[in-house]
Amino acid sequence: MSNPTFPAPGETLSLSPIAYVESPYRQKFAIPRQPGLVKSARGVIHFTEAYAHPDCLRGIEDFSHLWLTFMFHETAAQGWKPLVRPPRLGGNQRKGVFATRSTFRPNPIGLSVVELLEVGDTTLVVAGLDLLHGTPILDIKPYLPYSDSIADARGGYADARPNTGMQVQFSAAAEAVLAQHTEQYPQLRALITEVLQQDPRPGYQREQNWQKEYGMHLYDFNIKWRVEDNLNQVISIS
Ligand code: SAM
Repeated sequence: MSNPTFPAPGETLSLSPIAYVESPYRQKFAIPRQPGLVKSARGVIHFTEAYAHPDCLRGIEDFSHLWLTFMFHETAAQGWKPLVRPPRLGGNQRKGVFATRSTFRPNPIGLSVVELLEVGDTTLVVAGLDLLHGTPILDIKPYLPYSDSIADARGGYADARPNTGMQVQFSAAAEAVLAQHTEQYPQLRALITEVLQQDPRPGYQREQNWQKEYGMHLYDFNIKWRVEDNLNQVISIS
């Protein structure tokens, strides 16, 4: 391409967040790998001062879904490599970075479609997100079904929704904690169930039935579970 204008190759471009996400996911481990897989994951988008104006949201309530463009802020400093091992392929095959949705990219920008549940004056409540708490949002656009939904699209090595066949059971102690928090966190049981159905263990551990204990943070809860064959047994929630 001749005569590129600003920004020229190698030149930097500055973007500033329009909003930040309040998400139940407090650590990277166990976040689903794509949006829409855990529908009970609800988040709140809080606009920064410059954009916290109802005018910026006028008409958005007419859309059921939104595209979020965001920064992979937690991994941005780790840079990128031309070849990536997608977890979907068990972590032992490499694909080109632009043939993946890896977080490690030349420009650490992510793209997720989420369901819009509620519109406040300066906030949006969304569902099905795959974003870490505190993720900076760079832009928001409505999802347009006539253009964005392509019925005969090919999905390469990720052609279908992953189905792990994993079941989830809660111990009596875990059930008791869920019961104490149903008012404040009505989605918690469904959220834990859907997250564990995704089987967040690293691919190489899925083949080994280790009886290892795993832990994750959702909201301010520390959730511990064990895996036996295709059963996740939630041991404790604290
Ligand atoms: N749907 C997005 C996309 O395609 O650009 C994200 C896909 S990426 C494979 C999803 C993973 O990004 C999640 O499982 C989580 O581990 C990670 N993630 C989410 N928010 C992040 C953040 N703010 N910084 C770094 N990693 C993040």
